Formats: sequence, structure tokens, C-alpha cells
Amino acid sequence: MITDALLADGRCVDITVQDGRIADITPHAGRLGETHLAGALLLPGLVEGHVHLDKTLMGLPWRPNAPAPSVRGRIEYERTHRGSLGPVQPRARALMDRMIAAGTVAVRTHTDIDDAYGLANFHAVLEVVQEYRAKLPIQIVAFPQSGITSRPGVADLLDAALSEGADLVGGLDPVTIDGDQKGHLDIVFRLAAKHGKGIDIHLHDRDPGGNAQLRDIAARSLAAGMQGHVTVSHAFSLGTDDADDFAATADALAKGGVAILTSAPGPVTMPPVKPLRARGVTIYGGNDNIRDLWSPYGNGDMLERAWMIAQKQGFRSDEDLALAYEVCSTEGARMLGLPTHGIAVGAPASFVALPAESIAEAIAERPRARTVWLAGIKQ
Ligand SMILES: [Zn+2]
Repeated sequence: MITDALLADGRCVDITVQDGRIADITPHAGRLGETHLAGALLLPGLVEGHVHLDKTLMGLPWRPNAPAPSVRGRIEYERTHRGSLGPVQPRARALMDRMIAAGTVAVRTHTDIDDAYGLANFHAVLEVVQEYRAKLPIQIVAFPQSGITSRPGVADLLDAALSEGADLVGGLDPVTIDGDQKGHLDIVFRLAAKHGKGIDIHLHDRDPGGNAQLRDIAARSLAAGMQGHVTVSHAFSLGTDDADDFAATADALAKGGVAILTSAPGPVTMPPVKPLRARGVTIYGGNDNIRDLWSPYGNGDMLERAWMIAQKQGFRSDEDLALAYEVCSTEGARMLGLPTHGIAVGAPASFVALPAESIAEAIAERPRARTVWLAGIKQ
């Protein structure tokens, strides 16, 4: 039993956990349970909607970042230097442990698959994921980091990864990287249909061409009956100032059941949270690159990511800050297929306690002191 927990709605409660799930929630009656929280805030666990476990440098000595001006430039830099990073497993484990300590209770990771590495990173990440799956749900996206149609053999490698346990098929900038929107998306949707698995496509394009690709993906999702199983990560082009283009694209995404993942990236536009939700589009959060050859930033903390989303969206009210938390917890859980996520009877007992009076204060302060439970077990 966990006693004297403050919930986001202001109730002070005792929580009974049984078989990894919340069995009962009752008003706090002055009891002392196995864990007495003394009024600490208890929140639904954070959900990491987009991370790259195989890329991280976590656990290694600090390595200065080498900036590259474009996505293609960073891909080439990584292809040249990734061999010097050592095995994937210890780095992936170090990052998983950081993420869990920060309150993350479910994860979707992308894993590089390309013509040079084949399935090596996928196999390494699969090994780590299988170790951690007893504690928390983790999905793997087979991610073609160097392209599909422009790299011979990659389509077959993605096919093999899906046969060997990848949960989703990825894609990457069909126009900018492969120069073949139709060919790229044909392969992604064909593989998803063949294996009965979801899709999560990286799309970095910022110009109106990005929104045209989003509408194509939405139409394909609708035609394939894949609503609710397709995500486009980043989708910077949704930050457009063109209201008509935005409305047409958001409506297409809603109709096609395509969700948007954002990491609230640095000096680029981001998909606007409230306007997308107002048009029926799901948007959820992820850290993306965490201390790797792409970015020096990140520590695996999704509460920090909620703060970044809130900052970048100009959120100030308690209600809006709570929305930023939802984007980084409940909304991600829904897209990862975990509909009972939250602090409610019957839900998995996977949550985080921290010293704050409200979600708004938790995001503003991002306190380091956290107590985390995964399926009822204190970490
Ligand atoms: Zn990514």
C-alpha cells in the first residue's frame, strides 16, 4: 500500500496495489503504508514516444558534438564515426536506467537499419529490450536511417527485422533522402500490411512539400484501414503560417488516424499542440536523440521534454501545463497501445511520485527527486 499520495486533482489518497495493478484508491485515512509519500504528488508514468537507444553515448565519457548543417550531413557523420562507439548494449542499458529513474514507464525506440550495418543494431537493441520487457512495455521501430529506395537491400532488411520482432516499420524523409515519395511509402505501407504492424515515419521537411507528404501518408493510412496505427515523427511543416494548408493537412491526418510525435525541437517550427488537438489529431511527445552523434542534449527525462513543449508552445496556465504532461504521458500511452494508463483502479501500477503541489509546479521545477513504480514494483 502507498499512503498519503497527492493526486493531480487535489485528492489525498491511499493506493492499494495487487498483481502489478491498482486494486483500490481510497481517501487517505492517516495510515502508514509500505511507502508513505507524505503528500508527494503521484502522477501517471511518463511515456517515451521516440528515442534512439542504439545511438546514445550514455555511459561513455563526454564527446563534443560535431555540428552538421543538414539531416543528410548528420547521417553521413554518424555513418563515418559510429564504429568508434563500442557495443550498443551497455549504452542502451545506461539510457534505459536513466529514463526509468526519471519516471518513464513505457518506451518506443527507433533502431537504425541500413546497408552498412544491416541488422546489427537491431539485434543489439532487441537483446536489451528483451531484458527490460519484464519491467515495462517497449516497442522497436525498424528505422531506415540512410533511406530505403536509394540504398539497395534495405527494404529486405526491414522485412527481416519485422519477421524477427520489430513492432513497427519506420521511414525517413521520402522526398529529401530518397527522392522517391511514392516508392518509399509504397514499401513502408506494403511491409506494414504484410506483417500486420504499425508505422512511424521521420519527416523533417519544413516547406509545404512536408504537408503534401503528410496528406499522402494520411490517405494511405485511411485506404489501408490503419487509423490509430500510424505516426509521423517531427512533422515540422505543420508549424506553417499558412492557415489553409494547416487546416487541410490536419483534417487529413485526423481522417486518416495519423498521430504526430514531437520533441519540441530547437530552431525549427514544431507542430502546434492545441490547434492539432482541436482538429482531432493526436500529438504526443518523445526525447528523440539523447546525447549522441546528432545532439549533445538530453538526459532521458520526459518531464523535461514536457517543459520544453510547454515553453515552445507558450503554455502558461496550469491547465495548459497539465496538457503538456498529458502529451508526454497519457497520449503517448494510447499510441503505444496502453489504453488503461493512469492512476485509476485496474490500471497498471506504473507511476512516479515527486515533491510538487501540482502538475504545473512539477513541470516548472522538474524536481530531480523521484520515486518510480513499474507494475507495482518500486524502482
Ligand atoms: Zn528520431
